[in-house]
Amino acid sequence: MEDSILVVNSGSSSVKLALFDKHHQKKASALAEKLNKTDATAQITGSPEPIALPENANHQQALQVLIETFTQKELLQGQPLAIGHRVVHGGETFREAALIDIDTIAAIKKVSGLAPLHNPVNLVGIEAMQVLFPSVPQVAVFDTAYHQSLPERAYRYALPKHCYEDWGVRRYGFHGTSHYFMVQEAARLLSKPAEKTSIISAHLGNGCSITAIQDGKSIDTSMGLTPLEGLVMGTRSGDVDPGLFDYLAGQGVSASDVHAMLNNESGLLGLSGHTNDMRTLCELAEKGDKPARLAIDVFCFRLARYIGAMTASLRHLDAVVFTGGIGENSAEVRRETIKHLSLLGLMMDPELNQQHGKESGNRVSHADSRFPILTIPTNEELVIAQEASRLARL
Ligand code: ADP
Repeated sequence: MEDSILVVNSGSSSVKLALFDKHHQKKASALAEKLNKTDATAQITGSPEPIALPENANHQQALQVLIETFTQKELLQGQPLAIGHRVVHGGETFREAALIDIDTIAAIKKVSGLAPLHNPVNLVGIEAMQVLFPSVPQVAVFDTAYHQSLPERAYRYALPKHCYEDWGVRRYGFHGTSHYFMVQEAARLLSKPAEKTSIISAHLGNGCSITAIQDGKSIDTSMGLTPLEGLVMGTRSGDVDPGLFDYLAGQGVSASDVHAMLNNESGLLGLSGHTNDMRTLCELAEKGDKPARLAIDVFCFRLARYIGAMTASLRHLDAVVFTGGIGENSAEVRRETIKHLSLLGLMMDPELNQQHGKESGNRVSHADSRFPILTIPTNEELVIAQEASRLARL
């Protein structure tokens, strides 16, 4: 019986596949990595045996093998009912998810210049699934779409206006699917309708962003034209002085080297000189490693500044929410961040924070905190499955 929804997240050298039933319960997931290389590998989550892939397997071959494996294991019977794809950039064209047809693909291609590392590989995933399941409805869910509600004062840069008009230079924001999920979950936990819930949502994974959500809508966010702006991240710098480009050019550093530096060699990795992994940094800092301690300090201080900044966008605040691998799991990062924000009346409960809110309905704040602080596990795949069902009219 056909009752499955597939969710595809296609990256430059990997593809993640998740399988949901029509009630949006997750049944299985799988990951193929090192695609187009001799040592391409694949695995079903939770299964110790690797799945054999052809040498130099591409996205389509990997997806085909993963789907055959799901079918052999009777996780997938027949064709899926719908397929949802994560697409990084929807520009100003997509304010919400879209059913994929020729026009949608052309529009995704048109905005690909804004995300040259992401949109083309997202399209590879879409085209691969169209070959495998030509008659199944497919839906694109954009990381940027949720932020299309930003007011102009929040999305415009103070640059000559032709930069925006001719080249689309503006703040787009990313992680929209996760921030959207945060407000839905926060609303549920606070027993309020989502359209009346206002939160500051901090998504802290390898990429990090923070969003002000007023009455269910994104009204300000830290990532900008690209996912480089804003918070300190695993290997990305976040905000720097734009004068840096000129200064480094004077030192003989090329534009492409500055790009690589800011994207791949900065952030927690650059500051610590060790790793972009927050868990390892916390262990090193505990043992007295000074660069690791500094990396955590800069990360938390920048985050606290942004939480303060986001209050300027909001008329009301129901909760500050932490998510992503770091936001959900690092009691230390939450504690050190909130310590900077006593003027706002934010206060952690040390014990609830240590338990990640597991026994207190996700709350980690002290009873006297002016605003509740919550930790909520994100679930972008679920939102993509829900959007695929909605647009495929299941
Ligand atoms: P991605 O953005 O790639 O999806 P994740 O959301 O999985 O990344 O977040 C990865 C980050 O979460 C890493 O820095 C990792 O060290 C951190 N992390 C995961 N578990 C913990 C933990 N228990 N304590 C501190 N950091 C953690």
